[in-house]
Amino acid sequence: MNYYSTNHNTPDVTLELAVTQGLAADRGLFMPERIDPLPESFFREIGSMSFQELSFEVAKKFFGEDIPEYTLQKIVFNTLTFDTPLVEVNENIYSLELFHGPTSAFKDVGARFMARLLSHFLGKEKNMVHVLVATSGDTGSAVANGFLGVAGIKVHVLYPKGKVSDIQEKQFTTLGQNITALEIDGTFDDCQALVKFAFMDDELKKKITITSANSINVARFLPQAFYYFNAWAKLEDKSRDVVFSVPSGNFGNLTAGLFAKKMGLPVSKFIAANNLNDIVCKYLKTGVYEPRPSVSTIANAMDVGDPSNFARILDLYGHNHQAICNEMIGTTYSDDQIRETLLSVFMTTGYLMDPHGAVGYRALNELLKDGETGIFLETAHPAKFTETVEDIVGKGNVPMPQKLQNFMKGEKISIQISSDYKDFRAYLNELE
Ligand SMILES: *Cc1c(COP(=O)(O)O)cnc(C)c1O
Repeated sequence: MNYYSTNHNTPDVTLELAVTQGLAADRGLFMPERIDPLPESFFREIGSMSFQELSFEVAKKFFGEDIPEYTLQKIVFNTLTFDTPLVEVNENIYSLELFHGPTSAFKDVGARFMARLLSHFLGKEKNMVHVLVATSGDTGSAVANGFLGVAGIKVHVLYPKGKVSDIQEKQFTTLGQNITALEIDGTFDDCQALVKFAFMDDELKKKITITSANSINVARFLPQAFYYFNAWAKLEDKSRDVVFSVPSGNFGNLTAGLFAKKMGLPVSKFIAANNLNDIVCKYLKTGVYEPRPSVSTIANAMDVGDPSNFARILDLYGHNHQAICNEMIGTTYSDDQIRETLLSVFMTTGYLMDPHGAVGYRALNELLKDGETGIFLETAHPAKFTETVEDIVGKGNVPMPQKLQNFMKGEKISIQISSDYKDFRAYLNELE
């Protein structure tokens, strides 16, 4: 299957090129030329399929023409070595727990899939490929761990100094091997801008091969459709209208949900659940998309001022504002509202959410109508944000899973760089 650019200003490319280039030559985002629906039989049988099995069926629709079936099956099965349980938190409100992977956040799914797909394509090449990834916290850890030790690939993680949690930082600064952490004196938007500049730098690209592992990469974001199907598969009552509430930053997760719907998943609505960075909420209200600098919140993985995947949403609905509003509604919450929700759900149900999931929950609690079932994406384990969550629910109430404890034991190693592209370029120029 071919991939076109959302800017429609460059020839279509193969899957291999879309994955290795990350961003299209005209700076647009790649989109698959078709979104094929799954057959009715799939939806009849989905309830008895494992996460791996149903994901393989979804994966074939995107990647089946380009990757041998056996290889694709191996990639999917090796990516999904954990489940995404659906847990009822309150009447008709479910948490889709996406934190059971190695770094305890949903980004494990896309990152692990992409590492394996890239490694499949690189089998033919000799040159080192450099993966550049900007992170507000969780992407860096998921990508670093997903790619750790993969031959032929070096990963460079750019993160904003002092703006990620201790555990997040440990997850990508302690690994060594083919992973380097770059501590940028700036914001997440600065990190993202540096990566974008590198991709526009034709001189640099003559010298080294770079690719992106941010959610703009099709190999990262398409697999995120898998767990929407898994959620629906696990619902006992499939007759009710289903609303997905998606805590959103760069909108990769929500866009993947829209893809799942186009493939036939019966979703009645999506909620774009935002913290104070409410650029998309504003767009839904006014029809005007106005990016602005991000503000810091306690749900910091969603502190994004110019969501990169929004270009895909516009393209998917032909830039038609009304068509987009038919699919989704937007909400925005302050830090105080997030704290209040996290605490009250913990006190009344015993269920502990992370600050991002709490945004998703609150949106359902406010907006769900009679007859609807709400599913919010619990995008990370609360222990990834121990300090913030303990501040809200009290010390001793946030148990840390063993795999997170293990990360805390490592020693942090990072390279400090300013947010000036000249400095980043000098660093990249030293690479081979
Ligand atoms: C990345 C992230 C988000 C935002 O996801 P997008 O796909 O960028 O919208 C939300 N919550 C957590 C915990 C994250 O790591």
